[in-house]
Amino acid sequence: MLIDGQWKDAADRQFLEVTDPRTGKVFAKVPRAAGQDIDAAVDAADRVFKNWSRTNVFKRSALLREAAQIVEERKDEISRLMCMEQGKPLAEAAGEVKKGAEILRYYAAEAERVYGRIIPNEDADTFSTVVYQPVGVCAAFSPWNYPVELLAWKLGAALAAGCTLVCKLPSETPLSPLMFVKCAADAGIPGGVINALTGEGRVVGARLLANPKIRKVAFTGSTAVGKTVLAACTDSLRKSSMELGGSLPMLVFKDCDMEATVAGAVRRSFRNMGQICIAVNRIYVENEVYEDFIEKFKAATEKLTIGDGLNENVDLGPMCKKQGVITTLEHISDAVNKGARLVTGGDVPVVPGFENGFWLRPAILADANHSMKIMTEETFGPAVGVMSFDGIETALSLANDNVYGLAAIVYTQNLTTAKKCADELEAGNVAVNNVDAGVINAPYGGWKQSGFGHEHGTEGLYEYLNVKHIRIRTL
Ligand code: NAD
Repeated sequence: MLIDGQWKDAADRQFLEVTDPRTGKVFAKVPRAAGQDIDAAVDAADRVFKNWSRTNVFKRSALLREAAQIVEERKDEISRLMCMEQGKPLAEAAGEVKKGAEILRYYAAEAERVYGRIIPNEDADTFSTVVYQPVGVCAAFSPWNYPVELLAWKLGAALAAGCTLVCKLPSETPLSPLMFVKCAADAGIPGGVINALTGEGRVVGARLLANPKIRKVAFTGSTAVGKTVLAACTDSLRKSSMELGGSLPMLVFKDCDMEATVAGAVRRSFRNMGQICIAVNRIYVENEVYEDFIEKFKAATEKLTIGDGLNENVDLGPMCKKQGVITTLEHISDAVNKGARLVTGGDVPVVPGFENGFWLRPAILADANHSMKIMTEETFGPAVGVMSFDGIETALSLANDNVYGLAAIVYTQNLTTAKKCADELEAGNVAVNNVDAGVINAPYGGWKQSGFGHEHGTEGLYEYLNVKHIRIRTL
C-alpha cells in the first residue's frame, strides 16, 4: 500500500488473496489494511493538504501530465496485470490504461480553467467575487470492473482540484490500480498527496468513513453498498458523490438502422462480460421488427469468441468473479421459469487449459417481461432480456419502470422519436444511435437509485471544489 509516500505492508502483516479468473486460482496477495494503516493514510493526506492545495495549479497540472506519460510507458505491464486479475482481453485492458492516462491529462488541463467570477454590487465601493477552493482530504472507493479507469476519474479530478486523496482499491483487482498509483508517485507527486489502501471494503470503509478529517467521499459501486457509505456521511453532512448501479434500457424502433442497432446491442450487452454499469440489461423492440432483431442479434452474438485474453485475440474473457457466473445463471433460470425463450448462450463453455475459470456464454432471453429479475434487477453479467412493444408511450413507460436511472439507449432514424425519448427517459445519460454514453469531456452521472454527482467533464472537477463568495468593501 502507499501510505505517506512509503510502500508498506499492513501493520499486522495480514494479506488478501487475488484470484486469476481464467484459472480460478490465487496468484497474488496484497496487504489487508489494519486500522492504524488507515488512520496513518488519512493523517498524511491531512498533513500535506495545505501545501498541495496551495501549490500553483500549473505545477499540479505538470505533475499529472508527467504521471500520464509514465502510465503510457508502463501500459503493457499494467494491462497484463489487469488481464490476469480482472479477466478482460489484453487489448481491452490496454485501452483502459491508455484512457487512464488521457483522464489525467484532461483534468490537468481542466484545472487550469477554474476561473471564478466577479459579481457587481449596487454600492460602487463594494464587489463580490466567487472563488472555488479544494474541499480537503477525500476518500475514493472504486470497483473491479474498470480497475484503472474508475480510479483515474477520482484521482485525476481530486489532485487537479488541489485535494489530497486516500483511495480504497477494489479487493478483487488491486494490482493494476496499485501500478497506476505508482506512476503518479513516481511522477513526483509529493508523499501523502495520494495514499492507496488495499483490504476488505467493509473494514476499510468503516474506519475511513468514521474519520472526521475526510471531507468528501467519491464512491463508485453497487447501490446497496453506496447506501451504507452515504449513511456514514449523513451525521457530518459530508460532501459525497455516488456513482451506483443501473439497469439499462435500450429502445429499438422499427425505423432503426438494423445493422448498427444489432452491433450496438452486442457491444453494450456483452462487452467486458456485461460487467459494466451501463451494460444493456433490457431491450425493448417495436413489434414490426421484433423477430428480425432477435434473429440478427442471435447470429451476431454467436460470433463472439471467448477465451484466455492474455494469450489469444478473443472478444471476451472470463467473468471476474465466480459469484458473477452464479448470479447471471440465476437470472437466466428465473427468466426461463417465468416463460422467457433462451435464444442462445447461458451455458458454461470448456476453455482448454482453463477448466476452472469463470466462463459463461452470452445469453439472450426473448419474450421477457417485468416479472423477471433480468428486466428489473442489475444482472452485471452477460445476459440480456428482450421484449416487444407497441408504440412510443409504451416503450417509454417500460424503460422508465425501474428504480435505476443511469443511462438509456435509443435506436431510431426518426428525429421526433429520438427527441421525445431523449426528453422523457429518466436517466443521467441518453445515447441515440450509439452506445457510448460516457465521454471524457461530458458529465456522467446517475438519476434515481443510480446515485448523484458526476464524474467526467467539468462537473467531475467541481465535485472536488467548494464555492466561496467573498464580498469586499473598500473603506
Ligand atoms: P461494491 O459496492 O461491492 O464495491 C465497490 C467498492 O466499495 C469496492 O472498492 C469495495 O471494496 C468497496 N466496499 C465494499 N463494501 C464497502 C463498505 N461497506 N464500505 C465502503 N466500501 C466498501 O461494488 P462492486 O461489486 O465492486 O462493483 C459493481 C457495482 O458497481 C455494480 O453495481 C455497478 O453498476 C457499479 N458501477 C457503477 C458505475 C457508475 O459509474 N455508476 C461504474 C462502475 C460500476
